[in-house]
Amino acid sequence: MEQDVLSRREAMVERHLAARGIRDPGILAAFREVPREDFVPENLREFAYDDGPLPIGEGQTISQPYIVAAMIEAAEIARGDVVLEVGGGSGYAAALISRIADRVFAIERHKPLADAAELRLARLGYDNVTIIAADGSGGLPDEAPFDAILVAARGPEVPEALKRQLKVGGHLVIPVGGEDVQKLCRITRTGEDRWDSSDLGAVRFVPLIGTHGLSEDGTRAASVHRPAVEKTLAELVAEAAEPLPEIDDPAFAAAFDRYADKRVVMLGEASHGTHEFYAARAAITRRFVEHHGFTIVAVEADWPDAAAIDRYIGHGPPRPGAPKPFRRFPTWMWRNPVIVELIHDLRALNDGRTDEAKAGFYGLDIYNMAGSIEAVLAYLDKSDPEAARVARERYACLTPWQTDPSVYGRVALSTGYAECEAAVVKQCRELLDQALADGEGAGLLDAAMNARLVASAEKYYRVMYYGGAESWNLRDAHMAETLERLLEARGPQAKALVWAHNSHIGDARATDMGAVRGEHNIGQLIREKLGDEVALVGFGTHTGTVSAASDWDGEREVKRVVPSRRDSYERVCHEASDLGPGRSFLLDLAGGDAALRRRLAEPRLERFIGVIYRPETERWSHYSEAVLPEQFDAYVWFDETRALEALDARQPHAGVPETYPFGL
Ligand code: SAM
Repeated sequence: MEQDVLSRREAMVERHLAARGIRDPGILAAFREVPREDFVPENLREFAYDDGPLPIGEGQTISQPYIVAAMIEAAEIARGDVVLEVGGGSGYAAALISRIADRVFAIERHKPLADAAELRLARLGYDNVTIIAADGSGGLPDEAPFDAILVAARGPEVPEALKRQLKVGGHLVIPVGGEDVQKLCRITRTGEDRWDSSDLGAVRFVPLIGTHGLSEDGTRAASVHRPAVEKTLAELVAEAAEPLPEIDDPAFAAAFDRYADKRVVMLGEASHGTHEFYAARAAITRRFVEHHGFTIVAVEADWPDAAAIDRYIGHGPPRPGAPKPFRRFPTWMWRNPVIVELIHDLRALNDGRTDEAKAGFYGLDIYNMAGSIEAVLAYLDKSDPEAARVARERYACLTPWQTDPSVYGRVALSTGYAECEAAVVKQCRELLDQALADGEGAGLLDAAMNARLVASAEKYYRVMYYGGAESWNLRDAHMAETLERLLEARGPQAKALVWAHNSHIGDARATDMGAVRGEHNIGQLIREKLGDEVALVGFGTHTGTVSAASDWDGEREVKRVVPSRRDSYERVCHEASDLGPGRSFLLDLAGGDAALRRRLAEPRLERFIGVIYRPETERWSHYSEAVLPEQFDAYVWFDETRALEALDARQPHAGVPETYPFGL
């Protein structure tokens, strides 16, 4: 068996189960043993050890591992037990239970799924499981009573027949509720005619279709749980949405003036290649710099690259010998016409302003380690040649890996120690100390930030090799610290606009990032520090086109964005936009209607497109569960959007010198 699969399975057990509180060693051992990759379709095997559901055919899914573990744990399944599972699907949960209990019966209403599950289990040699193709909503009276019954599909209520097939002391675990979200209930039979019930939290399952469940179209739940007169979520959103004019209409940016008194306004994006997200953020940025005293524009770009733009908009000369900025994939994120126009305008706004009043353009990201090393050395060469010689020696340790720093992580790991850490940390500390002592002139601030970046990047590439939350957390903590240092450096009145992906600026605690993977992000970290002084503004779209690659380092392609899924926030906004507010609107989530917030707080899927877009596996590559009103203070909607253009494809912008700052 491939080592890779085993280590990914182990990582799933550690990160998604043990770390989230599944303690029972028998359950963890079962998850270590059963090969989930054998229970999912061939083309989705790469996602087998993500903690999410996956399609298995017939419109059904294999459940999320954590939920299966939580259900088995709640059912208190033990050696010697006879267990019934309703909704056998791929047979994965039944296989897990079979590693713990003595006997398992799993009922699946779709015969092709039941047949495939039976074959699979036989092949794996799990001979204490019986798969039955039938409607299981009424249980399996012939084999009752059971020590435990698990139902892997949502019912409008708890079927009486299942309660009656439990042994006294046995547990029935079943999701109960309407279409959007259900409660996971545990029913314990405490006597011949007595049952206790407890609520295990919110879940989302496919419908239990059958005599004791829902009708074939799965609609009965809605009428059971929601009075017909209650408004739909889309109607509530439509009522609360504030229509936005075209982006180039001054009234567009003025709609965001409600955030003008914040210290930090974070502007998100649901993809790294959508024209409207860039144009909207540029319009808001112009207005806030011109009228509201914002002097920091901090973006999800590399520090040394953004520094070239900063020099340009601050009317500084190019730094001799500085490498051309934004050469690293994905170049379109910054080499695009919207950014060219914005920096041109920021330069004009800065004209005649004092240094303190000038707006600066800063990069929060850590990927250009080589650029930062170069900038530190260039600064020291000019200011202190002896210090430059020492720094050169220290950074020499990283030199072999500069073109491909990810290799450094592997080498540092295999040699068993962090080779370059001490040297780069020392360099960073010295420059930061000097910056503090000397009051941070612009050149020194830049050099100190670069030295900090090299130290963060060294650690990042080391932990990146392990994958998972640690490297993500390190990167976002670096971004948050960079922003804090900028706010300090620009003085107590300084106010910042931040541009970064929704996944960075939307509070991670309200998404699977925080809830499932233990990741934090800049939105969460700054919100924890500044509370109400920060506004987190998310952006979203239903369909259109997007600039994205198919693989890392791939060419930019213009790809069609698949219309949003039925069970997503995007679909709610799409339906809302048809009901009145139009194709673009602002949804104020912080103020606004309590009923809307409550209904919006039922978790839904949200789409995250980065620089890579894979429509073929969209659900598993790009959607993740979120609670929108906790994630953002406001949400900006563009129903249909178009791909961001790349600069190279166009003529240079009139007024911006052809060779500076982009060096085209
Ligand atoms: N436990 C499964 C696994 O590990 O792959 C996943 C279950 S999937 C979330 C729910 C399954 O319940 C679907 O395969 C669906 O066809 C099945 N189902 C729905 N109603 C049913 C019923 N009345 N009787 C039996 N199976 C049912």
